[in-house]
Formats: sequence, structure tokens, C-alpha cells
Amino acid sequence: MSQANGIPFVDLVSPHVELEEELVAVVKKALRTAGFIGGPMVEEFEREFAKFCDVPYCVGVNSGTDALRFALMAAGVSPGDSVITVPNTFIATSEAISQAGARPEFVDIDPRTYNLDPFKLLVYLETGCDRDRLSGKLLSRKTGRPITAVVPVHLYGQMAAMDSIRELAERYGLMVIEDACQAHGSEYFSAKENRWRKAGSMGDAAAFSFYPGKNLGACGEGGAVTTHDEQIARKVRMLRDHGQARKYYHDVEGYNGRLDAIQAGMLTVKLRRLSAWNAQRREIAARYNELLGSLRDALTIPYEPNWAKSNYHLYVIRIRKRDELQAYLSAAHVSTGIHYPIPLHLQKAYEYLGYTQGSFPVTEKAASEILSLPMYPQLGQEDQRRVAARAGEFVEATAAPAALGSMSASVG
Ligand SMILES: *Cc1c(COP(=O)(O)O)cnc(C)c1O
Repeated sequence: MSQANGIPFVDLVSPHVELEEELVAVVKKALRTAGFIGGPMVEEFEREFAKFCDVPYCVGVNSGTDALRFALMAAGVSPGDSVITVPNTFIATSEAISQAGARPEFVDIDPRTYNLDPFKLLVYLETGCDRDRLSGKLLSRKTGRPITAVVPVHLYGQMAAMDSIRELAERYGLMVIEDACQAHGSEYFSAKENRWRKAGSMGDAAAFSFYPGKNLGACGEGGAVTTHDEQIARKVRMLRDHGQARKYYHDVEGYNGRLDAIQAGMLTVKLRRLSAWNAQRREIAARYNELLGSLRDALTIPYEPNWAKSNYHLYVIRIRKRDELQAYLSAAHVSTGIHYPIPLHLQKAYEYLGYTQGSFPVTEKAASEILSLPMYPQLGQEDQRRVAARAGEFVEATAAPAALGSMSASVG
């Protein structure tokens, strides 16, 4: 993409130009059969994506948000329940919990991985909940509601600590629904099973998003539920299609939440490139680590535990003078992002949950210090060196505060 020497945050044009012929062929095929909803193109993608995730079932739906909502509902989350997730995620995670009729409750993150901290989860289950004597259900002390599920988010493509989370879920009788919306192809080494597992294969069910900016993106909206559980897959298939398994026989009320055939066809084409694209992202991340490693005192590079392989959906650094660095990079025509600037518990939409500033200190501190650098498979080495060089200049300048004023003025 030639953006007159600016470096974009993502490049969604290049991969589509590269694949244009194959993608146009998909549209032609759909036009000539008029099979726009459901049908063989959707089934083919579902088969291929299930294989990619190492699960027997994949059900295509029309967004990651619907995938999460349907997965929660199909797994048995009911109106009146509480579901645990993190405050450091995109709002779709908690929206889906609410849309399934449940109430989100938050547990803070690990400061290094930015994902659900299993120790804090344990503390919450131990001290924030009571076992109901009659029903045996785990009740939230905060709301009196039964806690029935936990939604670990593999944020930025980095895997949540699934062994510990699954062990706690088992001990407390919770379902596990992975929010894998940023984690297509990420992997987790389960010490318990002594093998690598794919994101989306480790819970009762998992949700993926194919929003265009994700590692596997549609040319429009899309999402999928993956699962080992045939019953869950069957229920999601009904929920996405007005509660029917047979036309006009509605066992339950459902939704209009289907994946359309053109998007499925596009996704099948792009899925063939996903592993190579993810490998490129990992190379780019390694190069960033090398280029930025010397700035260690001022700037924290992403932490990848040896039990995880991130797909580097995002490359997120951490620095105290985050806003200043972002402005400096922007003046140097380097685009960056913040994922996410305002933690969910401090959003107006969640005032009613009763959390306040200070409820989740690790998330709050991270939210003021994280910065996502340009990251996409087509990011060239030269551009990457420019990003790192500009960040290096900033760190040097801010280490000697007198120099900063004159430096930012000279950035053109
Ligand atoms: C993108 C995303 C979603 C929602 O996906 P949509 O397809 O946009 O509905 C949910 N959770 C996370 C963590 C996401 O990044």
C-alpha cells in the first residue's frame, strides 16, 4: 500500500489485491448459483475452519458478537446468571454475556499477559462467591446470581492461561467459553495434556470473529463457533437460523445470525493463507522485540510465555508516557492504536454494575500505558525499522527532558 511515506496501523488493501482473482471468482460462483445464504460454500468453510482449529464442529454465524452470544446460550447460560470475564477487552465480550440474559462480572488481568489472571479468578471464586446449600450452585455474593460460565479472552492473540482456568472451572462447575475473536491460529501448550492445543479447541465452545481487521477477516461481517460438543453445535445452528432445524418448524425463538455464502467463500480463500500470514506476523514481532529490546528501561515489549504461541493480532508495548509517544509517532506519520483506552468497568454502559475507579487496578494501569504498533503481514522491514527508530528517538529525548520540546518541533 503506498501511503506517501506514512506507515498505517493495518493494511487491509494489499492482501485483497493479491487475492483479487480468487475472491472475484467466489462472487461469480455465488451469483451464478444464487446460493447466497447457507449451502455448500458455507459448509465447506465450516469444515475447513473446524480442521484448522482441531475441533469436530464449526458453525458459521454473522459476527463474533453473535458467535459469543450463541455459544453462551447453547452451552446453557440462562437469563439471571452471572458470567465472569475481564474488564480489559472489547465490549462485544460483555455485550454477548448481557445479550444471553446474563450479567457480566469482572476479574482483573495479569500485568504481563494482559489476560485473565487465574489467581485472581481463584480468589474471586473463593471469597466473592458462596455455595448455595440447597441447590449446590455457586452464587455471586455481589449479585446473588448463580455464576455459570467464565469467558477467557485471548487478547491480542495471546493465549489465556487455559490449564489453570479450566481446572478452576471444573472445580467450581463453570462452563468455559473462549473469546478467540483475536486468536485465529494461536496455540497453547497444555502442561496437563503435554501437547499443543489450538485456540478455539480448549473450552466448551469458542467464538471467532471474521471482522475485516482480524487475522482471518471476511470482506464484510462474519464469525464462527467452534466446539467438540455436538449438542452445542446443533443448538448454535438453530439459534443462528430462527430456532429452526427444519424450515418453519421453530423449536425455540432464535436469531437471524447466519454467515452468508459469499463471505464463507472469501474466508475459505483467505484461510489457505492464514498460517503463512501468522508466521509473518510472528517474524515481525520477533524483529520488533530485537529493535525495541534495548529500550527496556523505558518501554515494555510483549511478554510471550513459553507455553503460548501468539498469532500477534496486535503488537502491544507498554510505556509510561504513552500519550506523548503516540503523538510523537503520529507527527512522524506512524499510526498506532490503543486496545483499549477505557476499561469496560469504567464505561458509562456499565455504571449499573457498580464498579468504580480502583476496582481493577492492573487493567486501569495497563489502559493508560499500552500502545499497539503497526502490525500486519505485509509490513516491510524498512517501515518497521522506521517505527522502531522513531520510538527510540522519543525514549532518548524523554530521558533528557530538556531535549523533547525541540525534538517534537522538528518532526515533519
Ligand atoms: C472483534 C472482537 C469481538 C467481536 O467480533 P465482531 O465480529 O466484531 O462482532 C469480540 N471479542 C473480541 C475480543 C474482539 O476482538
